[in-house]
Amino acid sequence: MSDKDVTEVLQADAAGITGAAHILAEGGLVAVPTETVYGLAARADSAEAVAKIYAAKGRPDFNPLIVHVRDLEHAETLAAFDERARDLAERFWPGPLTLVLPLRAGAPIAGAVTAGLETVGLRQPSHKVMRALLQECGFALAAPSANRSEAISPTRAEHVMGSLGSECPAVLDGGVCHEGLESTIVALRENGEWALLRPGPVTKETLVRLLGAESSGEGARIEAPGQSPRHYSPGKPMRLSAKEVAPDEFFIGFGQSDGDCNLSQSGDLNEAAARLYECLHRAAASDRPRIAVAPIPYGEVGRAINDRLRRAATSS
Ligand code: AMP
Ligand code: MG
Repeated sequence: MSDKDVTEVLQADAAGITGAAHILAEGGLVAVPTETVYGLAARADSAEAVAKIYAAKGRPDFNPLIVHVRDLEHAETLAAFDERARDLAERFWPGPLTLVLPLRAGAPIAGAVTAGLETVGLRQPSHKVMRALLQECGFALAAPSANRSEAISPTRAEHVMGSLGSECPAVLDGGVCHEGLESTIVALRENGEWALLRPGPVTKETLVRLLGAESSGEGARIEAPGQSPRHYSPGKPMRLSAKEVAPDEFFIGFGQSDGDCNLSQSGDLNEAAARLYECLHRAAASDRPRIAVAPIPYGEVGRAINDRLRRAATSS
């Protein structure tokens, strides 16, 4: 086996971060820790580097990538922020909220990042290793989740290597992702309307409180490419809201219900969000041919958990 057949594991210390920044500066790929899930990062200003992300993931090229920035000032060089956008960024950044905003003319973002759209999805992550990396890089990083397209998202470095293998040349190991669920994505339109493109840790209830009712109807429809109904797939049949379990099923429990893996014994939805992909990875790896999942309430981050479960249970 040559060196190229294995993923290099970089420790999350100064030397590891500098090593990762060097690979990225040269146009290479590095899987990076964030508070949501691990991302497969490339410099966002290089078409060649970004093309490697799509190839490694087997991701369709109409599905745009989120761009990770150092801070709000950096973000404002890439997209047009109105007052609402600035207010949301000030409240939730660094953190798990992605803003889809008009791309600035001449911004150093390769066309493949936005899949040719005139908008760009931006986020300042809070994971301290990722923040140090962005600081050291200077350029923005395009990064989707570091897994094969449609597969379960990674919340630890081992998940990245299990899914991408040598397609991922290096991973910066920052431990377990504490949110464990992809960012909330909000599109803000220039006419004042807004849309929730993906539910996540920043809840819809919170956004409605700040922005007013979400726009609805024909005129409010905002293109959200790549939100495929099949995603996060464990590769075997999965049944939701299960009240009893068959002997050939791996059971993912919640609250008092026992299980082969429990999302949160105390019924805490934030804990359940953080443990969701860990349980799905275990279910996928188990020798049982099917998966059953206990009912999960819809309130707060429960909406995002149920969104991911529904997609994971969609077989085609
Ligand atoms: P992922 O990188 O896999 O977490 O997915 C990113 C998602 O963000 C994509 O599937 C898109 O739906 C959404 N997204 C990113 N950029 C844009 C954009 N400019 N307009 C609309 N949706 C976007
Ligand atoms: Mg993904």
